[in-house]
Amino acid sequence: MKYISTRSGAPDLEFEDVLLAGLARDGGLYVPESWPQFSENQIRSFRGLSYQELAVKIMMPFLGGAIPETDFQAMVEDSYTQFDDPAIAPIKQIGTNMWIAELFHGPTLAFKDYPLQLVGRLFDYVLKKRGERATIVGATSGDTGSAAIESCRDRDAIEIFIIHPKGRVSDVQRRQMTTVHSGNVHNIALDGTFDDCQDMVKNLFGDSDFRDAHNLSAVNSINWARIMAQIVYYFWTAISLGAPDRKFVYAVPTGNFGNVYAGYAAKQMGLSIEKFVVGSNENDILTRFFDTGRMKMAPVVPTLSPSMDIQISSNFERLLFDHYDRDGKAVAKALEEFRNHKSVEFGQGRWQAMQEQFEGYRVSNEETKSGIKNIYDATGELLDPHSAIGVIAGQQCDVAPDTIKIALATAHPAKFPTAVEEATGIHPELPAPLANLFEREERVDEMPNDLDQMRRFIEQKLEERKAA
Ligand SMILES: *Cc1c(COP(=O)(O)O)cnc(C)c1O
Repeated sequence: MKYISTRSGAPDLEFEDVLLAGLARDGGLYVPESWPQFSENQIRSFRGLSYQELAVKIMMPFLGGAIPETDFQAMVEDSYTQFDDPAIAPIKQIGTNMWIAELFHGPTLAFKDYPLQLVGRLFDYVLKKRGERATIVGATSGDTGSAAIESCRDRDAIEIFIIHPKGRVSDVQRRQMTTVHSGNVHNIALDGTFDDCQDMVKNLFGDSDFRDAHNLSAVNSINWARIMAQIVYYFWTAISLGAPDRKFVYAVPTGNFGNVYAGYAAKQMGLSIEKFVVGSNENDILTRFFDTGRMKMAPVVPTLSPSMDIQISSNFERLLFDHYDRDGKAVAKALEEFRNHKSVEFGQGRWQAMQEQFEGYRVSNEETKSGIKNIYDATGELLDPHSAIGVIAGQQCDVAPDTIKIALATAHPAKFPTAVEEATGIHPELPAPLANLFEREERVDEMPNDLDQMRRFIEQKLEERKAA
């Protein structure tokens, strides 16, 4: 299996190199050269498999022989041992033809555990095989950081540095990062905003001497392996509810477009999905695009669903690539126009083709809160603000009576307790393994927004680790 860049200006890579590379050298994102195909009969034969067994079947074609099946099986099994529901991604019915898939049963309570638990293990496996070590550096507005730390802690071939904006992530989110005391985990609270954190990471990667000296690597949502691992729960939930003999609509609370793009990939691979409903909060660039055909930047505003407070959805580039018939030069040109003018159209035909597959809904803070309450009153399901946006968006979408709608619940309500309590009066409790989170000792270094100091800090920590 070869992977190609969405901007057609970087070398084609095999799976292992795509895993470690993250972003392509031309600034593009890697996608598989072609989509593996599963026939209806194959999909039918997957009924009754466990989540982990199905995961191996779905992902093996993407590895292109890079990892022997028995090794990969062991890695997948190990990845989901810390999940607190035997179904891994349990589904619950909340209406006549409406279901939710709970993707918050991993160790850090957000759906990002589903891909990242595996990605940490894949990194360690490939690095060890090559006799290399890597330094993972990432910026987080909350959920990615804890999921990445949890997947990389205590792995021999990895040091991980996660930078969060000081005072701007929730207490639960911060503590999920800073109370991990593994020697290879380094938390940094930066005096600045999330954008400052992201710029810092970009600048560290932009310094090629520093990057090469410490073998910097990233596990953010543009990493192909994350998308790959997210395809699995689309197959899992649809097959559990009758695929390939039923049709499905997925409603997905969306920020960087990674999660919903994985669903699009599942559809390309043969899963019977009719449509995707993209839920956005007040940062509604995607909803406005699907409605009008014009993608137009607006300032980011803070909302009750902070993991979706994003204006540039990086993974949307992967969808564009297909709609430009995989002409990377044309994609690069369109994105340059967007960067320069903060606004772009991709052409009537492409917009209409995308509208056939995607619908966008914007859900305001007020609607999110009343939605959390209404859904709780009607079904007993207590949802976090992100998950509620998915359900509310899904409820808006009209489908044929025999089509099943599945809304993805992306975080546990206890991860965003303030909004949930304001909406319902109920304080959601953290699950048992995290019950004493607020008694644990925190470990974090505070840093000014200064590139030189950050470089020195990272180098000094790496020196200390080598000496230890
Ligand atoms: C990251 C995140 C999202 C957004 O997912 P994308 O793949 O970036 O679209 C939604 N909900 C929660 C809880 C998240 O952590």
